[in-house]
Amino acid sequence: MDFSITAEQREMVETVRKLRHKQLAPNAIKWLNGDFPWENMKSLGEIGVLGMAVPQEYGGMDASVLDTVLVLEEISKACYATALAVLGEIGVQPRIIANYAPEALKRKYLPRVADGSGVLAICLTEPDAGTDVPNYKTNSQVKGDRVIVKGAKTLISRADIADVLIVFTRINSVPGAAGIGCVLVPQGTKGLTAKPSYHTMGGEYLCDVVFDECEVPLDHLILRENSMKTLLNAFNTQRCLNASVCLGCAEGALEEAVKYMRERKAFGQPIGDFQGMRWKGADMYIEVEAARGLLYRAAVSGNPFPDRAMAAMAKIYCNEMAIRVTSEAVQVHGGYGFCDEFAVSRLFRGARFGSLGGGTTETLRNFVGEHLVKRMDLNTGVFGLSKL
Ligand SMILES: Cc1cc2nc3c(=O)[nH]c(=O)nc-3n(C[C@H](O)[C@H](O)[C@H](O)COP(=O)(O)OP(=O)(O)OC[C@H]3O[C@@H](n4cnc5c(N)ncnc54)[C@H](O)[C@@H]3O)c2cc1C
Repeated sequence: MDFSITAEQREMVETVRKLRHKQLAPNAIKWLNGDFPWENMKSLGEIGVLGMAVPQEYGGMDASVLDTVLVLEEISKACYATALAVLGEIGVQPRIIANYAPEALKRKYLPRVADGSGVLAICLTEPDAGTDVPNYKTNSQVKGDRVIVKGAKTLISRADIADVLIVFTRINSVPGAAGIGCVLVPQGTKGLTAKPSYHTMGGEYLCDVVFDECEVPLDHLILRENSMKTLLNAFNTQRCLNASVCLGCAEGALEEAVKYMRERKAFGQPIGDFQGMRWKGADMYIEVEAARGLLYRAAVSGNPFPDRAMAAMAKIYCNEMAIRVTSEAVQVHGGYGFCDEFAVSRLFRGARFGSLGGGTTETLRNFVGEHLVKRMDLNTGVFGLSKL
């Protein structure tokens, strides 16, 4: 098996690494106040990062899922808030538009994603149902050449500033999973309100969104009834990117912990000379490397939408690994580790988002368990889980 990354991938990561040290890391603390990191987005747009998931004809790069995972990992080592902002632009959002929207809407929205001037929001979670997609209440009623969207969403990233909201919706009141499709609601549509309502422990705000009989043209209904499987399959991309944010937070925290172990002295010697600290460092390193292997393998299991079981396993492991590793990095820093001014504190708080967004770890364990019991071909052995 070839575990190397290409020269182009290395070059892209190096470019992002330079920006990480020059701009992202030194300013990371200021985004704890919940402001959207527009200045970082501008810089990332200039080096092509924001167009990675956008096809070339709309100004993007049409990069692979692994490319986006590598870049997001590098950003996440420095700044969780920027990583989450970028996740919305190089993950499932532009890929849903690129794969399912009509040409005119692709031309309208995708070039603005690529140059960093516009952002996208994706709305699944509702006040009464998050994980439970088949019970979503938001409904889109088709009336001639118009669609009337009515309902409410919650905990939505960037809904207040997005150009357009990508909304999971019931179509024509068809009940259950069979009724789920997807509609685009542009910002400024009459009846749409999106209000930042919750300030998170990671720093960003999440929005409550109301669709009060929002009327959009029929071509904005980009996926009709019976599309839940298609939409959740697209989410396998998001799962790999969510895992990449967690991997990056863990790596950033490990780097900080190693620096601190070398510099901080106790009892007349660097704390890194105590066996207790070295074993902590060794365990953190092992976990990061194991997670990286699982994630990169998941990222190449399908393009643009990776294999469901592989993406779920990578996400679960990276989410839980990042909580353990960032927490240990806080411990290595003693009391300073609990302070906003120290990167490990912010990375610890950021890493906690992973097991909640993009499919909870419990739901994904259900997928993996179902795959094992109902579908996995035992004749192909342990490699049977992936398409590799
Ligand atoms: C930082 C952040 C950003 C977010 N951004 C967005 C966004 O942009 N768009 C969006 O739509 N949502 C977003 N969310 C919301 C997120 O997707 C939901 O919180 C998540 O899907 C869970 O839904 P819920 O909160 O309603 O929990 P629930 O679905 O009510 O679940 C509550 C608990 O029950 C467990 N549970 C539920 N069903 C099962 C089951 N079958 N088996 C075992 N356990 C189960 C869950 O795992 C969880 O632990 C964001 C969340 C965070 C933290």
